[in-house]
Amino acid sequence: MCRMQCVCVENCPMDCLKIEDAKFHGDIQTIAYMADPNHCIGCGICAKVCPIRAIVMKGVN
Ligand code: SF4
Ligand code: SF4
Repeated sequence: MCRMQCVCVENCPMDCLKIEDAKFHGDIQTIAYMADPNHCIGCGICAKVCPIRAIVMKGVN
C-alpha cells in the first residue's frame, strides 16, 4: 500500500505519476497514481524505487 514517499513520482522519466490526497481516513495521507498512462514506457523504475513495493510491474522481474 502506497505511503507517501514519493520517489516513484520523482524518478519517472516520463512524468506519468502524480500525488494526490487520499480520499479515505487512516494513516495513509497521500497516494501516487498513474496520471498519464499513454506516456508510460514500461521502464519499471517506479516499481524498483518504491521502498515498500507498492507498485507491481507485470512481466518485469
Ligand atoms: S508507490 Fe511507493 S514510491 Fe510511490 S509514492 Fe507510494 S510508497 Fe512512494
Ligand atoms: S514504468 Fe517507467 S514510465 Fe511508466 S510510470 Fe513507471 S517509471 Fe514512469
